[in-house]
This record gives sequence, C-alpha cells and structure tokens, in this order.
Amino acid sequence: MQNCLFCKIAGGEIPSNKAYEDEQVIVFHDISPVAPVHVLIVPKKHLASTNELSEAESGLIAHVFKVAVQVASELGLKENGYRIVNNCGKDGGQTVDHLHFHLLGGRYLDWPPG
Ligand code: AMP
Ligand code: ZN
Repeated sequence: MQNCLFCKIAGGEIPSNKAYEDEQVIVFHDISPVAPVHVLIVPKKHLASTNELSEAESGLIAHVFKVAVQVASELGLKENGYRIVNNCGKDGGQTVDHLHFHLLGGRYLDWPPG
C-alpha cells in the first residue's frame, strides 16, 4: 500500500535492522525497543489490523507464529520465555496501521500491561 511505513520496509524502500525474511513475512528490530529483545513480525501483505483477517489468512497467521518461535529461539529467548503481542486499534495502542506482531523478551514482562 502506498505511503504505508511497513509496506515500505517490507519492500526495502526504507531500511530496517532485519532479523529474518521470507516470501511471506519480514522480521526486524523495533526502532524504539521496550525490552532487551523487541522485534516486529510483519506479514508482507498489507492488512491494516487483525480486524481485516479472514479464514484466507489462516496459513499466514500460522506461519507468523512459526517464525516467531524460530526467531525467539535464534535470539536466545526460548528457555526463559517471551511474549507475542498484537496491538489493534486506538484502545489497543496500535500506531502503525499495517498488521504486525511484537516479539518481546530478555527480561521479565509484567502482567497485566498498562
Ligand atoms: P504498534 O504501536 O503496535 O502499532 O507498533 C508499531 C511499532 O513500530 C512501535 O513499537 C514502533 O517503535 C515501531 N516502529 C515505528 N517506526 C519504525 C521503523 N522505522 N523501524 C522499526 N520499528 C518502527
Ligand atoms: Zn502496509
């Protein structure tokens, strides 16, 4: 989608600190990390949020979680654990309107979130 930050990162138009990439997703380090490890798992297909998901994306979402576990393992998070987060909409705290999942770890993460 034109003028979408994460579409531009996925297309290589805007640089990112990449941790993983394949034909369906790109994973890169968050520009303003809130944990020692904070990466974003971003499907390359433009979907504004989880509100736009349908059964057609079931394979994509399964792939996102598979990649998340793989990247968590590669970044040393598997033993102590980690959190996968999706923020949706205004109350969810979503700031970039392109579907993405945060993978956070490297410290104890409080619950519930603020
Ligand atoms: P959310 O608030 O859930 O929509 O998450 C958007 C995330 O994108 C935030 O954690 C931002 O710090 C991050 N972010 C914004 N711009 C960039 C960028 N150019 N490269 C990497 N991460 C970014
Ligand atoms: Zn986009």
